[in-house]
Amino acid sequence: MILPIVRYGQTILRLTAKPVEKDKININELIANMYETMYAAHGIGLAAPQVDVPFSLFVVDVDAFKKDYPDAEGFKRVFINPEIIEESGEEWFFNEGCLSVPEIHEDVKRKSTIVIRYLDENFVEHTDTLSGICARVCQHEYDHLQGKMFVERISPLRRSFLKRKLNEIANGKVLPDYKMKNIQRKR
Ligand code: ZN
Repeated sequence: MILPIVRYGQTILRLTAKPVEKDKININELIANMYETMYAAHGIGLAAPQVDVPFSLFVVDVDAFKKDYPDAEGFKRVFINPEIIEESGEEWFFNEGCLSVPEIHEDVKRKSTIVIRYLDENFVEHTDTLSGICARVCQHEYDHLQGKMFVERISPLRRSFLKRKLNEIANGKVLPDYKMKNIQRKR
């Protein structure tokens, strides 16, 4: 089932996600829905808070980038209760976008290599070292679980240029070609 995506400005995107407890939620259904939602919107990563689920997990599939980044081939994974335990290497810029922030793409600087510990969809623990595009997409999605958005990682000057556009997104005036969640109005 395709789920509506939460837009920039909504509270859930600012909160720290809660740990997933096995058997407390229907994790298989959620994962299937998150992949379906992500593919329908042509995304390469999606975090649970972006579909209004307050738990700590994200899905990625960066296979579409394999032409430019050989590491990306077949990199499709579910990360439950992830923890980035180390970031290292040179900082590099990559032009990031986000399904919750339609029509905005900005160069974001992050370190090139991460060590990430997480549970897979079978709740088996892994600790992986990732770099390049695979690290990048995980860093972006991991930020969502900490209540952080990529536009907070660009320069204050760039952000001030984007202020009007961000307000338009928050107010539901930017309509992408995928389903977004209706704005929760204050009563
Ligand atoms: Zn995002």
